[in-house]
Amino acid sequence: MKVKPFRNESYIDFSKPANAAAQKQAIADVRKKLGKTFEIIISGKKIKTEKTFNSLNPSDGKEVIATFYKGTADLVNKAVEAAYKTFQKWQYSNPEERAQILFKAAEITRRRRLEINAYMILEAGKNFAEADADTAEAIDFMEFYGREMLRYAQKQPITPFKGEKNELVYIPLGVAAVIPPWNFPFAILAGMSSAAIVTGNTVVLKPSSDTPMMGRLYFEIMKEAGLPDGVLNFLPGSGAEVGDTLVAHPLTRFVSFTGSMEVGIHINELAAKVQPGQIWLKRVVAEMGGKDSIIVDSECDLEDAASGVVAAAFGFQGQKCSACSRAIVDKSVYKEFVAKVKEKVAKIQVGPAEENFQVGPVINNSAQNGIFEYMEIGKKEGKLLIGGNKVDRDGSYLEPTVFYDIDPMARISQEEIFGPVLAIIKSKNFDESVKIANNTKFGLTGAVYSLNKEKIAKARKELLIGNLYFNRKCTGAMVGAHPFGGFNMSGTDSKAGGRDYLLLFLQAKMMSEKIIKK
Ligand code: NAD
Repeated sequence: MKVKPFRNESYIDFSKPANAAAQKQAIADVRKKLGKTFEIIISGKKIKTEKTFNSLNPSDGKEVIATFYKGTADLVNKAVEAAYKTFQKWQYSNPEERAQILFKAAEITRRRRLEINAYMILEAGKNFAEADADTAEAIDFMEFYGREMLRYAQKQPITPFKGEKNELVYIPLGVAAVIPPWNFPFAILAGMSSAAIVTGNTVVLKPSSDTPMMGRLYFEIMKEAGLPDGVLNFLPGSGAEVGDTLVAHPLTRFVSFTGSMEVGIHINELAAKVQPGQIWLKRVVAEMGGKDSIIVDSECDLEDAASGVVAAAFGFQGQKCSACSRAIVDKSVYKEFVAKVKEKVAKIQVGPAEENFQVGPVINNSAQNGIFEYMEIGKKEGKLLIGGNKVDRDGSYLEPTVFYDIDPMARISQEEIFGPVLAIIKSKNFDESVKIANNTKFGLTGAVYSLNKEKIAKARKELLIGNLYFNRKCTGAMVGAHPFGGFNMSGTDSKAGGRDYLLLFLQAKMMSEKIIKK
């Protein structure tokens, strides 16, 4: 099968009035479709349960995006059994046909791009560019993993051995529990599910309860792309009931999780317990939180560094695992840097996602309260530069907030806040900056602004960071170009969007046949 080399999908330029108008029109069109109720789907059958829950628009906290039937432990058992049954056939499906389904799904996603963006703007509170980057990343994952499957399906290199015909093939694992977060509600959900499916596994997908509509859209797209019933099962519900039952089920073969460190640790522990009747050790791929630093050296373009820090700290309200939450700044440029950051943050306007404000709402009221608590902690731990309040309007808004003179061991310097809060830390010199950047339990992303080659070489060697950038911000990883995943408590370093990723969904089978001469 011949395919063109992978290329990243380009972004829509919303500074062009026609593009912005088209996105606004798509929001208006989607708004007419809101408020529907969606069933659970197991083996293609739509199922209703006694309880439902609403997905809400965080920009006003009230608008119902859609209502979803809530999964139960009993339905999880049914879904895993159905997925297991489908796996008996799907595991032998042709890898090229599976790749083709992803290529088709990418095409459908391109066609529905503004509509998907619109749902995401309303359901997750992303502004136009953030939503579009998310949808584009989902397309990239589909295109990239389709090609990767073709590569893994090829004859694999193996050392010749006299008198034998030897072969190594990659086969799928079984039933996947796919558990994504709400913050890249389409890209991560589509990436993890598509990787599991294209490698020949079957999936029970439990979307995040904050963004189930994005999971529903992915399900529709995969069905239209030709995915047989039962390969992807859609089961919204609570983490505690649906999530735990799914992870613990003896027929679940592996878990593909992205979310917080706390839930990741819990899933890892639960999956490690061998259940009665279980005949494998479950594999857990867990991509978790971050506490990402940008080092600002004495020798750098300070304007560029301040812009990079502000963009990485406040893009999508700081709700990215890759968001910069600590700027570690050399004392010789500290004062000037702090002033530049203040000036830039003061210009940020906060408001509803559909009006395309630079900073929108955080995901829900409980997140707003949790982040605000950290703001209160920050006020005690250091000096408030700007922000520090909730925004008084309907929806879950917070001011972009910066603290300075923060101790490297302070709570706001160590714990993931996952909101629009930046801590600025003063450092004596570059060596100390590197030490501070390495001083948390996380190791996801980070960046260094420096024009000094030796310092860059030191940082390359010593920073224990999964995605490390130089003279650019630490957010915005591109599929293929920046395989993504972190060290330590940031997860199992899966490197999503990289050449190693599909191996996490496969196992290698070796076959050796003695050559019998007649
Ligand atoms: P979360 O951990 O609260 O939830 C993630 C998913 O786990 C959701 O679908 C949730 O319903 C489910 N869940 C909750 N409890 C569960 C349980 N007991 N058993 C099984 N599933 C359960 O995270 P979130 O708030 O959705 O996402 C934000 C977090 O994700 C942040 O910590 C962020 O850093 C992290 N994240 C990491 C990456 C990465 O690549 N490392 C990418 C995006 C987000």
